[in-house]
Amino acid sequence: QQPLKRRTTAKELDEVQMPLCMKSLYDHLKRDKHLKYDGRNQLRLFLKGLGFTFDENYAFWKTTFCAITPAIVFEKKYAYNIRHNYGLVGSRKDYAPMNCSAIQNRSAPRPGQYHGCPYKHWEHQQLIVQLQKHVGVDLATAIANTAKESLYGVACGMHLEAVMKGSQTKKMCLVNKVTISHPNFWFDYANQVHN
Ligand code: SF4
Repeated sequence: QQPLKRRTTAKELDEVQMPLCMKSLYDHLKRDKHLKYDGRNQLRLFLKGLGFTFDENYAFWKTTFCAITPAIVFEKKYAYNIRHNYGLVGSRKDYAPMNCSAIQNRSAPRPGQYHGCPYKHWEHQQLIVQLQKHVGVDLATAIANTAKESLYGVACGMHLEAVMKGSQTKKMCLVNKVTISHPNFWFDYANQVHN
């Protein structure tokens, strides 16, 4: 699965559907006005995949962090990595958004960290509680049970199918069970931005 072309702005982030990995990061960022390194990296590259330019990504993080962080500290501690993701400093590599395999194979989140794949890294009950906010309890349990069998991409596809219920395009992309391999693919289909 390749991410499809789409431009989404920071103002739209509260309105759009996100896969659970990114929704969790975004919600914790909004709550805490801070994310640790791995979470920042995962969410920042996802936003890049949504079409955020460097300036948009920089402004998004600066606006959010500077609710509790002085601007001079933000510039010193956090701005470099944003520039690095866009190949503007350091190795000058233009980084792509992480796929599911990359996200799932990173070190598991420790307390206070929110990166990773919920279907792999969260406890069974935590997954059910969080999924219940988006789907009914029966489906939340079924998705969590699927994740328990290490079928992370299938579980994520079940979530995608649930949020697309009733969609005109659902049949086009979900004729067969989808195994999700990229969060930006999930985003594009859930928000129906494919061509
Ligand atoms: Fe995110 Fe992929 Fe896990 Fe879905 S399967 S929650 S898109 S890392």
